[in-house]
Parts: sequence; C-alpha cells; structure tokens
Amino acid sequence: MIKFCKLCGSDINYKTPEGDSIKRAVCLNCNSIDYENPKIIAGILPVYRNEILLCQRAIDPKKNKWTIPSGFLELGETIEEGALREAKEEAGISPNITQLYCIFNLPHIGQVYMLYLATLTQKKASPGIETKSVEFFSFDTIPWSDIAFSSVDFILRNYISDYPSKNFPLRSEYSINKVINE
Ligand SMILES: [Zn+2]
Repeated sequence: MIKFCKLCGSDINYKTPEGDSIKRAVCLNCNSIDYENPKIIAGILPVYRNEILLCQRAIDPKKNKWTIPSGFLELGETIEEGALREAKEEAGISPNITQLYCIFNLPHIGQVYMLYLATLTQKKASPGIETKSVEFFSFDTIPWSDIAFSSVDFILRNYISDYPSKNFPLRSEYSINKVINE
C-alpha cells in the first residue's frame, strides 16, 4: 500500500477515480494518481551443448538454492538487455539469446517473468556478488529439490521435455499456488 504522494509527499487515499474501475492511490493534496502495475523480471536459461548453467544464490531470499540469471527490468532497458545484464552480473557470462521461451505469471505478487533461451560458446562462468557458485548441470543431475523459484522449475522442466525435438514453443504459465519450497 502506498502511503504518501510521490510528487508532493501528502497523504494518499485509495479510491476509484471517475471513469476508472479499480481503486487507485490518489493524493489528497494534488490529486495525482500513483498507478501500481506488475513488475517484469527478465531472465535467461544459459545452455552449453547439453548442459545448463545454474547459479547458487548467495543472498536471501532462497539463499543457497539454485536459480537462473534473472532480475527486475530497469527503466530504459529492453527485456533482452535486462536479461543479458543479469547474466553478466550474476554469472559473468555473455550468452547469445536464441529466443523468448517462457512467460511465467505470478499475479498474486504482481510479477511477470519473461525468460529467454541462450547459448554459450564456451563452458565458462564466474559467480557475481549475489551468486555463491555457478555450475553446469547435465539433465540428470539437476538439483530439483533445491531449485529456488517455481519459475525456474517451470523453464527447466519444459526445456528438458522439449529438448529431444529441438523445438521450443513459447510456454506460458499462470501460477498462484505452485510456489516451491514456501
Ligand atoms: Zn500529491
């Protein structure tokens, strides 16, 4: 909940503006409306031949669990740029994006994950400040019980399932209760 106006600092009142259908944070002083919308998280599944690069988180939430490079999109970035920035920051890699692969909706917390497939030309990575370690996993060694987020579990399961056909159709999921390890 927003308490104060971003523009003038006055108190906020939640009400439905004329012509709108949703309650908004409206400033009691200057009447400006602070619209709240979902955040986009850009991520990458980095692949080297038939191995997947995962990052072990060094920070909470989900410290020590495995994830893929991902993070909130910054203003001024395209989603692809955001995904590549996260790959560089968290795993020290500059992979080549091949396609958008998964859209993972978490409407209960106002987040949308947009996850890309990307290939690496060499089996090399180095952990960034938010990463404890980086490791390449073959499909049969994925640490399923220690995956950090349901979005990561989703892209991994789909990728491994689609891999034999070498055909990776866009996968979309709406998840409200399937949050792993929570
Ligand atoms: Zn105001």
